[in-house]
Amino acid sequence: MRKFYNEKIETINSTEKEKLQLALINTQIKQALKAPYYQDKKLKQISGLSDIKNLPFTGKEDLRKAFPFKMLAIPHDQIVRFNASSGTTGIPTLAYFSKSDIKAHEENEAVHFFRAGVRKNTTFQLMSSLGLFAAGWCCLSGTSKIGASLIPSGYGNTERQIDLLLSLNADCCFSTPGYLQHLLEMIPSKDLEDIKLKTAITGGEPLSKNFQKMAFEKYGIEIYNFYGMTEVASHIASECSFHNGLHIAEDHFYIEIIDPDTGKVLPDGEYGELVVTPLKQEAMPLIRYRTRDITRIIKGNCPCGCTHRRIEPITHRIDDMMIINGVNVFPSQIEECIYRILPHTTNWQIEVEEKQFLKKIKIIIELQDELLSNETQSCHIRLQLINELKAHITVTPLVEFVTTGTLPEITGKAKRVKFVNRS
Ligand code: ADP
Ligand code: ZN
Repeated sequence: MRKFYNEKIETINSTEKEKLQLALINTQIKQALKAPYYQDKKLKQISGLSDIKNLPFTGKEDLRKAFPFKMLAIPHDQIVRFNASSGTTGIPTLAYFSKSDIKAHEENEAVHFFRAGVRKNTTFQLMSSLGLFAAGWCCLSGTSKIGASLIPSGYGNTERQIDLLLSLNADCCFSTPGYLQHLLEMIPSKDLEDIKLKTAITGGEPLSKNFQKMAFEKYGIEIYNFYGMTEVASHIASECSFHNGLHIAEDHFYIEIIDPDTGKVLPDGEYGELVVTPLKQEAMPLIRYRTRDITRIIKGNCPCGCTHRRIEPITHRIDDMMIINGVNVFPSQIEECIYRILPHTTNWQIEVEEKQFLKKIKIIIELQDELLSNETQSCHIRLQLINELKAHITVTPLVEFVTTGTLPEITGKAKRVKFVNRS
């Protein structure tokens, strides 16, 4: 049985890989110098991979300042597609791609999707739209290159998603983890047996390990975590069937982990900010792009045989960090606590209130009507939850339960944090 989509590249030895990466980085430096933004950035060719540390970083703010075309390294009429980020933590960033970029994305995505088990005979329900947000396009690239059957069902509209699952029998799907959880909860129990989903690919936001485990145990659905971003309109890393980290597509991306405060490159195994240099980006080359995502390189080889290094699943983004009276808190930590106590709850929001320099957090959770109307039970759940949160994030939040449908519906990336009375 075929194990890899592109065995030669996925099992490349480290000497060859480094040679390839060095050559591609130098080509990217040349290409970057064609973009107005990089013209005064003192980019020089490098003679070894470790010399990349001498090149300047590119940040999200730089992209925003370069809006719309200062990052463009090709003639305008060679742009074949625009994408823009979802704007989770600020003004969305713009990205543009050439024909050769799209071809490179297809090669890259085919490797990721094949790794997650997508084949020619797969029926794939794409629960993301082909809009500005890049995820849908990544899925289209990967599934069409492999030749799978694509059902572009788009965002939300859960009843229709379930009808399509029942009538067209998709065995694989893509969605954000938050929406997948919501969807699974909404499938009527009488229909569960007729749903043929065996694999789900999720991306765009952190995937809770608890949810990944539950989806497999309860629904028999194996979730593959994919990591990507709009600026590269492609997946940077994806899990293999061992689910022990995400393999970086090292023939498409050069990855560094840096200390976010000092900018120093950290050794493998240490947590820091992921910095990515796409190796085949023609229209919008990016040198040492700071993602604001926190992870680390996993040391050692993966039993799957792929020689591309792995990163740990991203659970934190620097911009999401809330400092609550001196304690650093990330939404993903709160999610894990909620999940342990209320595994069927899919919609919740964190309200951060600042009054006279003191921050308080309130967690608003949608609760099923049966639980909400039972005062003893809801009091008990509230206490359990507060204790769980106290133990794991050492912050005592307020917890408010609201009826289902009160919070904004999740269709793609969930907006979990809301700031009120900011001063
Ligand atoms: P943004 O969310 O910043 O507007 P994008 O829509 O391009 O930008 O999404 C990219 C970001 O989404 C990444 O930088 C990362 O923070 C997050 N992300 C993507 N995939 C994953 C994943 N598998 N796990 C955790 N976070 C992810
Ligand atoms: Zn592997």
